[in-house]
Amino acid sequence: MHLERNVSLAPYTTLRIGGPARFYTRVTTYAELIEALGFARAEGLPSFLLGGGSNLLVADEGYPGLVIHLGLAGDTVVDGELHEVAAGTEWDSFVRGACELGYSGVECLAGIPGLAGGTPVQNVGAYGQEVAQTIARVTALDLETLATVSFANSECRFAYRQSLFNSTHRNRYIVTAVRFRLSPEGRPNLTYADLKQHFGDARPAPLEVYEAVRGIRRSKGMLLVEDDPDSRSAGSFFKNPVIPVGQLEGIAKAAGVASVPNWPSGVENAKLPAAWLLDQAGFHKGFALGEVGISSRHTLALINRTGRATCVDILRLRDAIVAEVQGRFGIRLEQEPVYLA
Ligand SMILES: Cc1cc2nc3c(=O)[nH]c(=O)nc-3n(C[C@H](O)[C@H](O)[C@H](O)COP(=O)(O)OP(=O)(O)OC[C@H]3O[C@@H](n4cnc5c(N)ncnc54)[C@H](O)[C@@H]3O)c2cc1C
Repeated sequence: MHLERNVSLAPYTTLRIGGPARFYTRVTTYAELIEALGFARAEGLPSFLLGGGSNLLVADEGYPGLVIHLGLAGDTVVDGELHEVAAGTEWDSFVRGACELGYSGVECLAGIPGLAGGTPVQNVGAYGQEVAQTIARVTALDLETLATVSFANSECRFAYRQSLFNSTHRNRYIVTAVRFRLSPEGRPNLTYADLKQHFGDARPAPLEVYEAVRGIRRSKGMLLVEDDPDSRSAGSFFKNPVIPVGQLEGIAKAAGVASVPNWPSGVENAKLPAAWLLDQAGFHKGFALGEVGISSRHTLALINRTGRATCVDILRLRDAIVAEVQGRFGIRLEQEPVYLA
């Protein structure tokens, strides 16, 4: 294990924000991972598992413990419909590989930054797919016992942007591998409006959908592109809120509109687009507040506009948005990226 001190975390996050980790190590083997955890335990330090840093907001003061940067990559093992991917594999390269082989099931999740191990944590989703639909098993290291454990899909308790790994058992497990069940028939999911419009009546192969999704993402600044300030973000900063259906009328009234865009969520609830709430509250695409702002192409992405923003800048904008939306509509927006301090 190679241990470093006072390592700036900003370059390891897609927001390019954050102070130093007191200790930092990049682990590329299971043995190094165990050694790193042993070090943190012996020194009485908290530890944090860092993947691609694409769903992360790091405090300006940094992190007082050990940051373990996951590099456990490996070949994807394909056994019929089952594809086992090591947690440290770049998510997009796994998706591309599966699509190239003609498998469908993850093609709409093309271009999502980060590593494969992070995908079950918040049940990543986009364009009509989420990983909960195709994950067969998740293998993880139990930080209490240091034993390897394996979870079937139903045991992961997947919900919208949620699993046991980021809710009831937060910080208990490190995901080391994920097994997906993909379809060899290669019939891609084309339920999302942008994709339907793109393909019309055509029956595209998974790889064509992969490319189309990346194109749509690029046009919205949701693909990581080196010099594109709109992609200096942590993706969507707020979750879409779920509210009782009965509240919709009051929200429409408060917004001065006939009806509120929403879609059903369970029997008596509705999910609202957080982007619509931001727009109604005056936070539009391209909004700027000092060094930070809102992407000019995606209302939900808070961005480090200049590359010089601090965490405090982002928190100021976040709090202004949350307060305005709550004041107008009585809805408290929930932050999606993990806050590390
Ligand atoms: C431009 C852009 C677009 C995005 N688009 C989407 C989108 O369409 N849909 C979507 O759902 N998300 C999206 N995201 C968010 C993000 O890419 C995903 O949540 C991604 O899966 C995070 O993975 P990561 O490896 O970067 O995790 P990190 O940001 O490094 O970590 C996030 C959290 O997960 C934990 N974690 C990471 N890996 C593991 C592991 N192996 N075991 C246990 N815990 C772990 C970390 O400890 C941390 O708490 C987007 C982000 C950006 C910047």
